[in-house]
Amino acid sequence: MKKIKTEEDTFLVPPTMHAMVMHQANKPLVETELPVPKPLKNQVLIKILACGVCRTDLHIMDGELKEPKLPLIMGHEIIGLVISLGREVENLKPGDWVGIPWLGFACGYCPYCLKEEENLCENALFTGYSMDGGYAEYTLAYADFCFHIPPRYANASGAPLLCAGLIGYRAFGMLGNQSKKIGIYGFGAAAHIFIQVALYNDKEIYAFTRDGDQFTQEFARKMGAVWAGSSIEMPPSAMDSSVIFAPVGDLVPKALKDLDKGGTVVCGGIHMSDIPSFPYELLWEERILRSVANLTRKDGKEFLEIAEKIPVKTETRIFPLREANEALETLRKGEIHGSVVLVME
Ligand SMILES: [Zn+2]
Ligand SMILES: [Zn+2]
Repeated sequence: MKKIKTEEDTFLVPPTMHAMVMHQANKPLVETELPVPKPLKNQVLIKILACGVCRTDLHIMDGELKEPKLPLIMGHEIIGLVISLGREVENLKPGDWVGIPWLGFACGYCPYCLKEEENLCENALFTGYSMDGGYAEYTLAYADFCFHIPPRYANASGAPLLCAGLIGYRAFGMLGNQSKKIGIYGFGAAAHIFIQVALYNDKEIYAFTRDGDQFTQEFARKMGAVWAGSSIEMPPSAMDSSVIFAPVGDLVPKALKDLDKGGTVVCGGIHMSDIPSFPYELLWEERILRSVANLTRKDGKEFLEIAEKIPVKTETRIFPLREANEALETLRKGEIHGSVVLVME
């Protein structure tokens, strides 16, 4: 073991770590012992405390997202402790609690970065997809893309904020201040944080779930939804705006049907099944249909501040790292309220 002495603590870095590794699509992750990686000049080494399991990870495993690095350590909702620094890192120090989100790196010089749309960066690297992520005991992250994590969230409860929370926050910003009645289609990890931000901003939430999913409808009501029902039902009144978190294209025409004139429907997922064709009248009268992609660091900083102020509380179901496959299946079956999080023993 190599000792790293810092002002705050002495960190012991073992030579190897446990990780759950994806070798190919549609196969379970494999528990593997790997060398602890060494940071590049602008990276930090992080000892992971917890990592959220996101629906995106299922899309990666199922081969629906086509270009993962392989072999791959998935996981992009990481809470951890900075252990050591590359030689050019100035914004972090050993002992800092950080969160690592999906956007692992953006170039800073492509046309999108130059117009402050780094979420659309042409040269972006994504944590747990194009670079290794959090289903492991240690990981590397680019220092400029880590968020400082307030003490309240320096534990498993903070992990879901880093994707589920952030994507919801970015989607919330697209709905327009005038929206009062907001529909949510799919009430999982993202929705259970979104609703807290929305209620804090004095909105009314209408939760649409899979037909007959009383379990989730009850959860939505408990979280403060004024109405919860099946996604094939008509809500009691038209929605001012909506977010679709479920990766189901059939929900798009339905959400437009439920939407008032001038309203916006935001698709919040990275992947969705095909959207069936629909009559133009569903879009007519200035209804807007759009997606939300990735995040910017500005979103992250703003959201973490607001989350602490509200304060957002996450519901988590904890699995040990080595049970990552079981955790993913639990998420797939929707047998949980809130978020699934892996913790490192
Ligand atoms: Zn760029
Ligand atoms: Zn995610």
